[in-house]
Amino acid sequence: MVLRGPWATGQPPCPAGIVTAMASPDAIPLLVYGPRSTAYDFGPAHPLTPRRFGTGISLLEELGAVPNLAPEPATDEELQTIHDPAYVAAVREFSEHPFGPPRFGVGPGDTPPFAGMHEASAAVAGGSLRAVEAILRGDVLHAFHPGGGLHHAMPARASGFCVYDDPALAVARARADGLRVLYVDLDVHHGDGVQAIHWSDPGVMTASIHETGAALFPGSGFADELGGGAARGTKVNLPLDPGTGERGWLGALEMTLPRLAERFRPEIVVSQHGADSHAFDPLAHLLVTTTAMGAAARLVDTIAHTWAGGRWLATGGGGYDAYRVVPRAWALVWLAQSHREAPDSLPSSWRERWAADAERHGQSPIPVTFSDPPNAGLRADAMSARADERALEIARSVLELVERAGPT
Ligand SMILES: [Zn+2]
Repeated sequence: MVLRGPWATGQPPCPAGIVTAMASPDAIPLLVYGPRSTAYDFGPAHPLTPRRFGTGISLLEELGAVPNLAPEPATDEELQTIHDPAYVAAVREFSEHPFGPPRFGVGPGDTPPFAGMHEASAAVAGGSLRAVEAILRGDVLHAFHPGGGLHHAMPARASGFCVYDDPALAVARARADGLRVLYVDLDVHHGDGVQAIHWSDPGVMTASIHETGAALFPGSGFADELGGGAARGTKVNLPLDPGTGERGWLGALEMTLPRLAERFRPEIVVSQHGADSHAFDPLAHLLVTTTAMGAAARLVDTIAHTWAGGRWLATGGGGYDAYRVVPRAWALVWLAQSHREAPDSLPSSWRERWAADAERHGQSPIPVTFSDPPNAGLRADAMSARADERALEIARSVLELVERAGPT
């Protein structure tokens, strides 16, 4: 991609003094959350509900986390480093007048217009941008933006609940400083927007593990999508069969991510921790557990420290079980960034606080522990066992494809 706009001009990267309540650079991860986070809201019937911030942030706070970077909108100039000006203008129009015929992917269905949509979406982008800038300045090693991870947004199209592509913007921001970026996407859906936006940049490796596009939105992310031109071999996809459980999912990650990092030698890691690969998630068909998600977050932490001087921005993403899954998944990312083990059990006061809501929304009972039993207590059938085996075969063959694609 060609970098335009504010970061290519030699201006100071961003105003100082945004980061508050910081101890030492590696003690506490930055936690991105503030009043604007809950404004990203497509309405009460939409699966991406801001209710997850109530459960998720309160559990993080019970563990000792303190939100210390409140997202504010990114500027149009910043958004237009990856998005078309005409698209940003259209989102602004929908934001003021949330009706009218569908345009640029905004309309009835997945990504409907709402009042204030531009400001709320630009604030998600701004949260990830300011977080990556804090890492680039050396203020912190790790940052976590649970409301970020809107990985389906395209340069000129909203898609799959995503308006502005905050992870792709964070990657672009690190590229403007000349760093090689490894982007790891753990959401159950393919990270298609980030892959498309950085398709031809050999300085960006994207690695996405997801349910196969043959069975699930957005219908892409196959093993032969390897990157364009000189970037061939830097775009990596692990498409898994429906029914794949923690053994196949985590096994595939453990087999591939360390090898890919060693090959690519990233200088910063950006990751997306969508919790919708979980067995309880209502929108997809993998059988992953919080146990595996926690192990994956710790694997990303190890890679960041081994290859990238510890520089690591984690974002949230999908996840539509706002009581049983999302809060624990976010907590495990934050604990990995804090280099802390998960406590044995969830605070009982927290479970009691949300029990009635969880029941009302059909997502109860809330589990007692951060980790799940194997297959989250569901009985693994023969199909799931085969899917696990297939996942490991896919991982092996994808590594061969990448290595055949040439040096990075
Ligand atoms: Zn770390």
